[in-house]
Amino acid sequence: PDPLKALLDTYAAQQEAAKRGPIDVLSLKDIQDGLKSGCIDVFFQPKVSVADRRIVGVEALARWRGADGRLIPPIAFVPVIEDNGLIDEMTRQVFEKSIAVLADWWRKGLEISVAVNFSVDSLTRYEVFDLVSQAIAKEQADPGYVTIEVTESRIMDDIAAPLEILTRLRMKGLGLAIDDYGTGASSMQQLKRIPFTELKIDRAFVAGAPQDEEARAMLESSVSLAKRLGLSTVAEGVETETEWDLVAKLGVDVVQGYFIAKPMPADEVFVWAQEQGGLTSS
Ligand code: C2E
Ligand code: MG
Ligand code: MG
Ligand code: MG
Repeated sequence: PDPLKALLDTYAAQQEAAKRGPIDVLSLKDIQDGLKSGCIDVFFQPKVSVADRRIVGVEALARWRGADGRLIPPIAFVPVIEDNGLIDEMTRQVFEKSIAVLADWWRKGLEISVAVNFSVDSLTRYEVFDLVSQAIAKEQADPGYVTIEVTESRIMDDIAAPLEILTRLRMKGLGLAIDDYGTGASSMQQLKRIPFTELKIDRAFVAGAPQDEEARAMLESSVSLAKRLGLSTVAEGVETETEWDLVAKLGVDVVQGYFIAKPMPADEVFVWAQEQGGLTSS
């Protein structure tokens, strides 16, 4: 049996289990109403440089705020939103909020970048390019501090479809990240057609690496490949000191994970960064 395939199967099974888990999926009616009444909230998870543990950026993560104030994770609403033609509206709300937060932080001396997740499917529509351009122009944000994340497995469905818009975004100066790398079984030969700037190694390989030889091999080869292609590397889901030490030893540039910080509201990130000495004035 192919050990890599076994690992990928385990990962897929875990993801399926998570989908069936205790989380109730929102109904289409709730979603249609909630998109109009401001139920989409955005949390931000710090990304730190491995070299000095300082904050270099955040990832914007959508949250649904239910009527009772309850926070609902993306797995319970993003698939429904995608399947019902509402993803561009959600992306617009998340992106505009993220850029407004970015501009506010810069005014206060927190000069970091923000990464926003985009569904690959939406990157075939020029309206999506326009909403990105307009939000950045409105806040006079520096596009060099904005990254678009797209999930590897989704890109591989049809690599040509999002190629033009991703290339245009890159030409505007935005960063492009391959998200959940390692779960899509793509070849770099294919991915190289898109001008990516960053590779985010999926949590499954990080979590598995300390005890599992195959996961470690996947992690190591992803890092060395990314380096040879000039991509910045991010390890997702680092939860322990052991994992931190391992990814640091392998030469990963940036870490994101509970070991550093969980996703938080924007104002909490600001306080956290201030305490860590992450502001230009501190
Ligand atoms: P992702 O882009 O891979 O985001 C990372 C996910 O890992 C987040 O889950 C984050 O909370 C979680 N995470 C971070 N560090 C750790 C850790 O140390 N341990 C563990 N166990 N988990 C960690 P979240 O927020 O539930 O988001 C899940 C996925 O939903 C995201 O995965 C992304 O694919 C999607 N998503 C989130 N926001 C958006 C959005 O605005 N638009 C679209 N299209 N998709 C989104
Ligand atoms: Mg992401
Ligand atoms: Mg990811
Ligand atoms: Mg992931």
